[in-house]
Amino acid sequence: MTPAETTAAADALLASRLRNAQPVLWTNPARQAQPGPALQARGTTISLDDTKAAAGRLARFAGLLAEVFPELAASGGVVESPLLNAAALQPALGLAAGQGRLFIKADHSLPVAGSIKARGGMHEVLEFAEQCALRHGLVQPRGDYRALNTPEARAVLGRYQVAVGSTGNLGLSIGVVASALGFQATVHMSADAKEWKKDRLRQRGVQVVEHAGDYERAVAAGRAEAAADPQCHFVDDEQSFSLLLGYSAAALHLQRQLAKQGVAVDAEHPLIVYLPCGVGGAPAGITFGLRLLLGPHVHCFFAEPVQSPCFMVQMMAGQGEHPSVYDWGLTNRTEADGLAVPRASLLAAELMWPLLSGVFTVADDTLFAQLVQVLDALGERIEPSAAAGFSGPAMLTGTTAGQAWLHRSGVGAVLPQATHLVWTTGGLLVPDAQYQGFVQRGRAVIAAQV
Ligand SMILES: *Cc1c(COP(=O)(O)O)cnc(C)c1O
Repeated sequence: MTPAETTAAADALLASRLRNAQPVLWTNPARQAQPGPALQARGTTISLDDTKAAAGRLARFAGLLAEVFPELAASGGVVESPLLNAAALQPALGLAAGQGRLFIKADHSLPVAGSIKARGGMHEVLEFAEQCALRHGLVQPRGDYRALNTPEARAVLGRYQVAVGSTGNLGLSIGVVASALGFQATVHMSADAKEWKKDRLRQRGVQVVEHAGDYERAVAAGRAEAAADPQCHFVDDEQSFSLLLGYSAAALHLQRQLAKQGVAVDAEHPLIVYLPCGVGGAPAGITFGLRLLLGPHVHCFFAEPVQSPCFMVQMMAGQGEHPSVYDWGLTNRTEADGLAVPRASLLAAELMWPLLSGVFTVADDTLFAQLVQVLDALGERIEPSAAAGFSGPAMLTGTTAGQAWLHRSGVGAVLPQATHLVWTTGGLLVPDAQYQGFVQRGRAVIAAQV
């Protein structure tokens, strides 16, 4: 076969596996090693300065957050997660020592929201609170934001509403933070949202609106309702720069954690990051921050359920298109509720053109099996969505498409010195009964494999 015929055959195989809901890897031919210091998406230019501004905002609010959330008292209001050495998990994943070192960025343990949504969701609510507080003279620029922790300030913010549409975790984050600051909060939940998440929000006085449709429908309903009310701020998961930049601030913290643990990132020591992807905002924000901060030797891959590969089909279709997973004959049905999204964020997709290395899919059974492997090897409790990244290393080392990418990118030549970083995105707040159900299913999958 000629090279062109080989490429066409690989594309046809990928499309056929994708359509049949089999795990598959797509790599991005448009990735640029040196994308430049500022990037355009949806007509807006963003740079690392915007990421630093988001980090600055989170820092300004830390004192207030430490007072409002008892679980943040110990960290002084800083919402961050540890970087864990996960060498003990490598045998279970089939990642040999000669194929690089494994770490986990443990966002499954993020306080307050219990998921990666603590980053973006919290940032957007705080940005809105800051605007309201400055407008009403409740705080001075660069003043002490703990002034917002009074009945008077809360009453002023209580005239405003914060609304969001969600499959669960974003609603949990936005609802809890908004109501803690005194805002009225409304969360539009899709049909796949779990009962315990709705209960938790109602207990905190958040209005939960249940929708029979999927994530996209819940977001559209929330957006329409909010548009009619000038006092209402709608957190738009499909289009929000504030959310995306809140996520991106994670890169600044991770850079310090890597340095502290002596993990170099350079041509001889590539960093490969595996990020669970729903609509794309969280992994795109983090990829944006990491690529602009750490440069060409960071390779980011998104992980999606085999029935919900919205970001993969968007990246394959290209700009000007907006396909859904239903167009591919897929169902969008998955136990990874945080990732059950039929159509990608165009903001995230546009931003990822020059930055992303690839996207892969994973079967639900594998999520449950790897959730158990993470428990057994590391003692960490993650939810199914948060396990999506763990197939990443084997996708690169054990498939034809992955091996071709390793060769082309040059990463293969230095793989023994590479760092694999799996981002675990949720789990802390999952009720025990639910979690035990996940473990049971995972053990059954593992038992069936041997
Ligand atoms: C929301 C979510 C993601 C993905 O974030 P998106 O911005 O939707 O791509 C990943 N994991 C968990 C647990 C989530 O809740």
